[in-house]
Amino acid sequence: MGLFDRGVQIKTPAQIAKMRVAGLLVGETLELLRANVRAGTSTGELDAIAEDNIRSGGGIPSFLGYGYPPFPASICASVNDEVVHGIPGERVLADGDVISIDCGAIVDGWHGDAAITVAVGEIPAEVQTLMDVTEGSMWAGFAAARLGGRVTDISAAVEAHVRSQRHPSGGSYGILEDYTGHGIGTEMHQSPNVPNYGKPGRGPKLELGLALAVEPMITLGSKRTLVAEDDWTIVTDDGSWAAHFEHTFTVTAQGPWILTALDGGEAKLTGLGVPYGGR
Ligand code: MG
Ligand code: MG
Repeated sequence: MGLFDRGVQIKTPAQIAKMRVAGLLVGETLELLRANVRAGTSTGELDAIAEDNIRSGGGIPSFLGYGYPPFPASICASVNDEVVHGIPGERVLADGDVISIDCGAIVDGWHGDAAITVAVGEIPAEVQTLMDVTEGSMWAGFAAARLGGRVTDISAAVEAHVRSQRHPSGGSYGILEDYTGHGIGTEMHQSPNVPNYGKPGRGPKLELGLALAVEPMITLGSKRTLVAEDDWTIVTDDGSWAAHFEHTFTVTAQGPWILTALDGGEAKLTGLGVPYGGR
């Protein structure tokens, strides 16, 4: 076990290497799910594919049984105006939907956590723009992470990216405030919170061995949400559609290393002019 500093779990390089194994299993599972998203497929079928892939890869689905009431599935499947925490089941995807899939796995006691939003067939242009803005804001967050910097440097960069992007209908994007990214390690959710908005220069220092999940949740309208009757699904209060992207990452002496990205984030970081930390 690493040292604990102000409630922040600091991992050794060997422990980060174990988190990379869990992260790769999550990343591979999400790519498998992306390839299986199509009109006519149910969210429950996607969940079964995920659980099978996680278990056959030597992992445990971390969402299954999590919280109260215990989450009943291995992925969160959130469609259209559902932002996060959707429960997979009988809902059948239709052309024009978007589905946000969140996936977590434990391997040898260490967690990975990541999410993607995927289009089902042809989607409205404004929804594709929302997805691009949301994913771009996550990468802007990673690009702002420097050893010796602070956690909210990431938050400020996520918000600045979203606010810099034109809204398709002239409104402004909703950045959820009630749900945040988080520290991650031997538990899925650890200190500190990683908000998707705010001023830079606050929160714990970004130091070697800290691992964080960065996960912007952005809507085409309201930032306010409601909890559905199933006690889990988070929906926008105005019915606007949402996107959610997430990766687990750490910062090495070389730069950010995206533990749940199949290439470690190398292509995207290089494209942003940011040194890749996973070498
Ligand atoms: Mg997640
Ligand atoms: Mg998370």
